[in-house]
Amino acid sequence: MDGMNVVGDLFGAGKMFLPQVVKSARVMKRAVAYLDPYIELEKEEGSTNGKIVMATVKGDVHDIGKNIVGVVLQCNNYEVIDLGVMVPADKILQTAIDEKADIIGLSGLITPSLDEMVHVAKEMKRRGFELPLLIGGATTSKAHTAVKIEPQYDKGVVYVSNASRAVGVVSNLLSKEHKPGFLEKTQAEYVKVREQQARKKPRSKPVTIQRARDNAAVLDWDNYTPPVPKKLGVIEFKNVSIATLRKYIDWTPYFMTWSIAGKYPRIMTDEVVGEQAQSLFKDANDMLDDLEKAGSLQPLGVIGLFPANRVGDDIEIYTDETRKELLTTSCHLRQQTEKTDFANYCLADYIAPKGTPDYFGAFAVTGGLEEDDLANAFDAQQDDYNKIMIKAVADRLAEAFAEYLHEKVRKEYWGFAPDENLANDELIRENYQGIRPAPGYPACPEHTEKKKIWQLLDTEKRIGMQLTSSYAMWPGAAVSGWYFSHPEAKYYAVAAVQRDQVEDYAKRTNMTLAEAERWLSPNLGYDPE
Ligand code: SAH
Repeated sequence: MDGMNVVGDLFGAGKMFLPQVVKSARVMKRAVAYLDPYIELEKEEGSTNGKIVMATVKGDVHDIGKNIVGVVLQCNNYEVIDLGVMVPADKILQTAIDEKADIIGLSGLITPSLDEMVHVAKEMKRRGFELPLLIGGATTSKAHTAVKIEPQYDKGVVYVSNASRAVGVVSNLLSKEHKPGFLEKTQAEYVKVREQQARKKPRSKPVTIQRARDNAAVLDWDNYTPPVPKKLGVIEFKNVSIATLRKYIDWTPYFMTWSIAGKYPRIMTDEVVGEQAQSLFKDANDMLDDLEKAGSLQPLGVIGLFPANRVGDDIEIYTDETRKELLTTSCHLRQQTEKTDFANYCLADYIAPKGTPDYFGAFAVTGGLEEDDLANAFDAQQDDYNKIMIKAVADRLAEAFAEYLHEKVRKEYWGFAPDENLANDELIRENYQGIRPAPGYPACPEHTEKKKIWQLLDTEKRIGMQLTSSYAMWPGAAVSGWYFSHPEAKYYAVAAVQRDQVEDYAKRTNMTLAEAERWLSPNLGYDPE
């Protein structure tokens, strides 16, 4: 069976790059279909062919990585039942039963999805499942899988760090011969990871929230006048062309999406991956040309600049310059470990206290609401490569839009840097005044704060972007965040927070302690139980 070897070699031999594999997927699917009757004949006990139910968990919309894994598995002759995005636990598990699946694979990008994965594992245990569970996606990790997920389900939980690993893991799990040994080894490894995690001492000691606040960054407001925006209020952007935005694209993450490592533009001449990079770059740009010509993807954005002052670790945002009426309050967390050389940072410190007029901004952008429809159209043609490509490209446009608007804000709308003139690589290196931290990222890790951006900008009504139950943004190609103008504002990580701060944060955000602990679970420096 020569044909079988082609299928088997396609990824296993490691001669092909991931994009090549995906690009040839359509051809391979045909080949696999053609080979099917033979494969059936060969399918015996211990055969490695099997069925995998895959899904992006409830509340999450990101699926580029999952789609790549799906294609790679299909190329290796596994049947993949892809349930798409935002899939509730019940649907995943019921499908696995109905389809007599061999494995369940979960994917997710944002931190609240970690909790949802724990929930799925618990449900599998409760319902007496026997199938192995695969965990993958950007925020997942071996440590999280070992500490939080695996203890909930004892029939096999395996973290899959990237698409190229998936085939090895799945073939082990579907082999009667290798499965017990493989699971035993994985379980032993996770026991070790848990022990290491339990022994791990925090790099620096936690301090009380009071002590952390006593060591806040103190900005010299007596000798600094915050810049006054040229244009206060909310502004929509519905006609920014792809031609304009593509000049602002940071290409390096695009190659990472396709599992090719290296910085753009150097990557284009790399000895090993250069040719692949050029081909991927050309295909993305051809797609941008097409989208631009057809007008089939419309980038949308909205920004707002408002009077604001800090009150403790909060930022009060006002309707107007009288600063009497609140639009909303943006709540922040403070670093809570002992610092000897630095302050215990909190984003609120970068805004002036009451008495000094200061300002604060917010933004939300998407590459286009048509993203999913375009991807589905490619899917209908069984064109896996372009189905993934459109999302990778839309994602780049969203990030480029964020960069473009931030520049506009600095130069025009807030106007504190009218003469700024930075090349794209300087923008990517953030060689400008101010920051645009994004909720869910390390300086403001709590995702529910996005609802305040939605409220301030009337984001859904104005440009159709939505928030899911986990505060993921829809469409997936989306960015939102805050604007800070202060020259000393910088990015950092809040990292571990303690119960005293979480109790205080819960009050400030009108959550119960349990709710706050749930949303902050990746940042808790203590055991909530
Ligand atoms: N050029 C990149 C930009 C995205 S990463 C791209 O095209 O993909 C940089 C962005 O992530 C920042 O603009 C900010 O919005 C967010 N970010 C990075 N570090 C952060 C931190 N520590 N806290 C909050 N947001 C952060």
